[in-house]
Amino acid sequence: MAVKDRVPMREQDPKVRIKNFDEVALGYTEEEAILEASRCLQCPNPTCVAGCPVHVRIPEFIKAITERKFEEAYKIITSTNSLPAVCGRVCPQEEQCEKNCILNRIGKPIAIGRLERFVADYALQNNIEEEVKPEKKNKKVAIIGSGPAGLTCAGDLLKMGYDVTIFEALHALGGVLTYGIPEFRLPKRIVEAEIERLKKLGAKVETNVVVGKTVTIDELMEEEGFEAVFIGTGAGLPRFMGIPGENLNGVYSANEFLTRINLMKAYKFPEYDTPIAVGKRVAVIGGGNVAMDAARSALRLEGVEEVIVVYRRSKEEMPARAEEIEHAIEEGIKFEFLANPIRINGTEDGWVKSMDVIRMKLGEPDSSGRRRPIEIPGSQFTMEVDTVIMALGTSPNRLIPSTTKDIQVQKWGGIITDEDGRTSRPGVFAGGDAVTGAATVILAMGAGKKAAKAIDEYLRSKGE
Ligand SMILES: Cc1cc2nc3c(=O)[nH]c(=O)nc-3n(C[C@H](O)[C@H](O)[C@H](O)COP(=O)(O)OP(=O)(O)OC[C@H]3O[C@@H](n4cnc5c(N)ncnc54)[C@H](O)[C@@H]3O)c2cc1C
Ligand code: SF4
Repeated sequence: MAVKDRVPMREQDPKVRIKNFDEVALGYTEEEAILEASRCLQCPNPTCVAGCPVHVRIPEFIKAITERKFEEAYKIITSTNSLPAVCGRVCPQEEQCEKNCILNRIGKPIAIGRLERFVADYALQNNIEEEVKPEKKNKKVAIIGSGPAGLTCAGDLLKMGYDVTIFEALHALGGVLTYGIPEFRLPKRIVEAEIERLKKLGAKVETNVVVGKTVTIDELMEEEGFEAVFIGTGAGLPRFMGIPGENLNGVYSANEFLTRINLMKAYKFPEYDTPIAVGKRVAVIGGGNVAMDAARSALRLEGVEEVIVVYRRSKEEMPARAEEIEHAIEEGIKFEFLANPIRINGTEDGWVKSMDVIRMKLGEPDSSGRRRPIEIPGSQFTMEVDTVIMALGTSPNRLIPSTTKDIQVQKWGGIITDEDGRTSRPGVFAGGDAVTGAATVILAMGAGKKAAKAIDEYLRSKGE
């Protein structure tokens, strides 16, 4: 059977988009969405659903699109997914629902992510809201951290009628969605709109509260009457290389760089008062999505002429999504593969001037299954750069485990939980990057969802 082609999505032209922070992908029109949705075979045992960590009822919402019932499609999606406009944009669908779509056998899978995005954007534009009026349960639950794990857990508990308060260390909600993923991939107005929906469901919010410092979990539970706590604090602690010169001016962690740009809007300085100092030649160290985001953000800043990603393995081993790498190449980002920095050199007044790099070759596969990079002796060379961004990965911060009784953690800092998010302390649950280390939005959401269910069971078992 011949399969119709996937409906392409319009994008901003690379030459235009490198001068702005507007969204690159432009989304489907109604007609395009209906056309794409009509390719779905409506499988009776849909394999796509099993690939989605929050089990969105995919064929049902797609069928509603073909019937032009966009509002109904939205209700179907939001019955299991609290952040569809976000997921439709940033989930690695090629590894999840779309990978499991039956059409892969004969052609391209249904563009499930794009259709989800279409429906969610339609709902936001037309102010369509969920109708949830749960019976109030008089029990207080604290959610720590407002990334996708915390927001999902909060959303599900609110729909069950719990009294939910979200505690967030920063002044804005959203976690990585707000401070990490750039505007041109995930517009902040979309994140804000999805958070507003949660507030309408009744979430109380306390920003600028660092749990472990401002207040501890023990205090929340013993003094403030919270009967259960969910820890969704992410993995925001940046890793550095430990090479000479890393403290020079002009060396950033990707976290700092992206926070300045996304959260503090430093690209609009002086309209916004957070500055960002970048030179003409920027090196980004790493090969993941964070490296791609940092590189593409740097390229859009005024005064930057060249951005080079320096990665110690080759293109094949890069952990970043293929689509992100393609976008980076289209935009003119350069790549220095099989190369690793060994020293950053500075000017007399302490700014980055250049970086010494050594060539690598690939050896046998290591524990991650990827071929291990090995230095080639004597292959050292110098790159003239004036800004260096380290995007080497992050790990969970130990503040909460170190200030809370009876919470067990892994050696690398991840909180230990069972499958449903229960920690070693009764009443305290955890999920997302704080448990797994840096992973994905949808996995964090899946963990928040499972924990909400476990919290409900726990509080029911406690009775009145
Ligand atoms: C630059 C970047 C790009 C990414 N791109 C993608 C992508 O395209 N697709 C994808 O699926 N994933 C992507 N990821 C990964 C994804 O964003 C994370 O896996 C996901 O956000 C994890 O969610 P979380 O809720 O566990 O934690 P986070 O999103 O990290 O949220 C944790 C929140 O907790 C707060 N917090 C921390 N400690 C405390 C405390 N003590 N008290 C109070 N609050 C606290 C933090 O301020 C933060 O707001 C990206 C990550 C980064 C950094
Ligand atoms: S597997 Fe693909 S074709 Fe089948 S229902 Fe899911 S999206 Fe439609």
